[in-house]
Amino acid sequence: MKRIYLDNNATTPIHHEVLEEMLPYLRDEFGNPSSIHWAGRKPRKAIDDAREKTAKLLNCDVSEIIFTSCGSEGDNLAIKGIAESKRDKGNHIITTKVEHPAVLSTCKYLAKTGYDVTFLDVDSQGMLDLNQIKKAITSKTILITIMFANNETGVMFPIAEIGRITKERNIAFHTDAVHGAGKVPIDVKKMNIDLLTISGHKLYAPKGVGALYVKRGVRLVPVIHGGHQERNRRGGTENTAGIVALGKACEIAVRDMEAEIKQITALRDRLEKGLMEKISHVRRNGHPTQRIPNTLNLSFEYAEGESLLLNLDMKGIAASSGSACTSGTLEPSHVLVAMGVPLEASHSSVRFSLGRGNTAEDIDYVIEALPAMVERMRSMSPLYSTITGKGTDLKFSESSCSH
Ligand SMILES: *Cc1c(COP(=O)(O)O)cnc(C)c1O
Repeated sequence: MKRIYLDNNATTPIHHEVLEEMLPYLRDEFGNPSSIHWAGRKPRKAIDDAREKTAKLLNCDVSEIIFTSCGSEGDNLAIKGIAESKRDKGNHIITTKVEHPAVLSTCKYLAKTGYDVTFLDVDSQGMLDLNQIKKAITSKTILITIMFANNETGVMFPIAEIGRITKERNIAFHTDAVHGAGKVPIDVKKMNIDLLTISGHKLYAPKGVGALYVKRGVRLVPVIHGGHQERNRRGGTENTAGIVALGKACEIAVRDMEAEIKQITALRDRLEKGLMEKISHVRRNGHPTQRIPNTLNLSFEYAEGESLLLNLDMKGIAASSGSACTSGTLEPSHVLVAMGVPLEASHSSVRFSLGRGNTAEDIDYVIEALPAMVERMRSMSPLYSTITGKGTDLKFSESSCSH
């Protein structure tokens, strides 16, 4: 069976150059990078090199990179670290309703421990209103944490404009750039970003490694207390192989970004156009242009997203839906809910997230396969038959939540 992977926002395969680069540190170069003897020397040098490559992707200094165990840790360290270090200055944090759970849950946790958190709304295209941010700022605001690009819709927020506001008001600005890094150019200096999270496995490096950029001079209380690693900001013996991998992945991203943006945007648009032409009642969730190149979120109204995913899977196509199937009930995506997407449409949403490995043939295969699936599912929808005048066919009874 064909295997077509269109779920790169969930995780990416490890790039072969990345794997080659990291392997020696899982084999012979096992030393502790903090050791002063021969065994530690090469791992230490490799970490230094990786830090340089990571810094280059973001345009920051090597001293401003903290390696972490994942994107979630980076988000936790940024948010809790700032919240705690600025506690005497204020207790107000601003974020949005559409953040990744790593940010959203951390903010909700802080809200339970005496912090005051504002969760900003987005509009129907998933965009933020800058005036709303300005209005939310108070004398107690210590941190604004707003994601670079949304993992579900791909919508990019106006990060440079937010950076201008936070700089002017002297408020720390963190952005979860897990889906910006490597996909579009990022310059933390030009964009006035104080803290920025990236994750290895969304960037063709393995799971279990990430990095947090922290602007020089920004003070942070550690989340993991321990040894002197990462300039006392993150205890724990370094994940040498993972860090080397992340560095290599950043280097490749810098090298290939321009070509990849062109290639992946063209494939994404081919998919969007192809599906829109062949299937009626499709809505795109998210801003048409303000989005990262690889992400497409569509609602196939009167069809059910989870069932579509199972059908796609049977054809070897991996994608993702906007709602999670938990114990028989469908929880609509918090991102689509915040955008005001009607419940029915959010249950029929599918996220296609493209990556380096995809080809035009992959895309055409999906465009060929999907219309019949949607049509079959719609033939069972009484609502759809009312609208189109087609009869319902209840012979197929597919339940998405039986798995
Ligand atoms: C995946 C993801 C994270 C978490 O990264 P992990 O390395 O899996 O912990 C954080 N934010 C966004 C936007 C993500 O997509």
